[in-house]
Amino acid sequence: MSEEIFKKVVSHAKEYGFVFPSSEIYDGLGAVYDYGQNGVELKNNLRQYWWKSMVQMHENIVGIDAAIFMHPKTWKASGHIDGFSDPMIDNKDSKKRYRADNLLEDKINRYEKDGKTNKAAELQSALDQALLNNDLVQLKSLIEQHEIACPISGTRNWTDVRQFNLMFSTEMGAMAEDADKIYLRPETAQGIFVNFLNVQKTGRMKIPFGIAQTGKAFRNEIIARQFIMRMREFEQMEMQFFIRPGTQKEWYEYWKKARMAWHAKLGFGSNKYRFHDHVKLAHYADAAVDIEFDFPFGFKEMEGIHSRTDFDLRNHQEHSGKKMQYFDAELDENGKAYGNYTPYVIETSIGLDRLFLATMCACYKEEEVGEGDKKDTRVVLNLPPILAPYKVAILPLMKKDGLPEVAREIMRDLKTDYNCFYEEKDAIGKRYRRQDAIGTPFCITIDHESLENKTVTIRYRDTMVQERIAISQIREILAKEVSWSNLLKD
Ligand code: ATP
Repeated sequence: MSEEIFKKVVSHAKEYGFVFPSSEIYDGLGAVYDYGQNGVELKNNLRQYWWKSMVQMHENIVGIDAAIFMHPKTWKASGHIDGFSDPMIDNKDSKKRYRADNLLEDKINRYEKDGKTNKAAELQSALDQALLNNDLVQLKSLIEQHEIACPISGTRNWTDVRQFNLMFSTEMGAMAEDADKIYLRPETAQGIFVNFLNVQKTGRMKIPFGIAQTGKAFRNEIIARQFIMRMREFEQMEMQFFIRPGTQKEWYEYWKKARMAWHAKLGFGSNKYRFHDHVKLAHYADAAVDIEFDFPFGFKEMEGIHSRTDFDLRNHQEHSGKKMQYFDAELDENGKAYGNYTPYVIETSIGLDRLFLATMCACYKEEEVGEGDKKDTRVVLNLPPILAPYKVAILPLMKKDGLPEVAREIMRDLKTDYNCFYEEKDAIGKRYRRQDAIGTPFCITIDHESLENKTVTIRYRDTMVQERIAISQIREILAKEVSWSNLLKD
């Protein structure tokens, strides 16, 4: 899929109420977006897919909802105050700021697209090495060697590469003093770590077990690009899985496989995903991999799986002075109890907004329909039915002769279980197209025959096939097609 299609996805998202720029009447706010009436439904459904598969489908994983504000010591302990920064570089002509590693990644993608695989591999390895050594001079020199120009000014007049901390801060309380400085969380994970013992004790959880959370995170990204791909306010869905030290390799492999299988179930095509191992590891990790998605602008990270060792719990123990240990009463092969230890952690962390964008890109289709004079293009979002904002549209053919009354009765029956869209206006063809564009999998049309024999027409979004069915059959069809088990079962 090309950049051209990406532009269409972005304007489609706005035109059909999925995503709007934030505070648009004031010309928007950089890299902040609002979800509209259809977007919020799709986003909620994607969140539910994650939550159900993590929490509901696992007896040993529970959820929490921690506050966005946390004690400032949290971020000292987690390493974010000292180490959560990105290498940035400015173009002196356009005055635009970029992430040095992103500029180089884009170049690698371009080499790959142009079939220059050797060059791509060579640059990838040089980039990994520079990141690993935190070598800012080398990053700049790679940008120069590969003749990377600013996309705005087109020049190669660059500043040096510098580090830039990504956390937003604010003050708590009426008197703004330095001691009152607090941060907007840059990740949801720390809310899980500080609650580790609360959940373990009150939930009587036994290792291995997980704690899951979804919620907002904030990062003052140097450069925000590609629509909702990189935002300053975004949503994460994270799960920390607490394990015995020494078992991290097998659990890391387990979650890598499990998370890839979760993505595959969405049905967007296995060629759309790949693993990308991290060479430069974050300050907390002993192994890390990204699941990348083939966005229209190239393969980019959608989810990270990290083996975080005992870094976080150990540091919270040190900074808070509170024990963050687990007593393992199970016996090892020598018949001795494992006893007290600080658990190790495997984390899975996915951005909900990136998942939303991947879903929109994968499901946006333009299709030629009709013949001869009637030839036309329709835009359809072929979302998995359970994820669609509306599951069914109820459309009386006319606004008279008792058709709306029958339609309303059907709506009353279905709306307790399914999000239904009701519409009387416009020609039926136009109404079908609008539903295609927001991904509604089924349209139910009520006509004069419905009054005589209690039947309706059901139209299927993907095939556009229309069938006459009894009103009493609607629920049966929906129950089969619009079901979480279609996505969740093994
Ligand atoms: P990137 O390298 O793209 O900045 P990251 O490695 O910093 O991402 P993590 O800290 O691992 O990301 O966060 C986990 C997930 O959160 C990412 O895989 C991504 O889906 C999402 N995410 C991170 N930053 C953003 C952002 N600025 N906007 C939207 N989603 C984000």
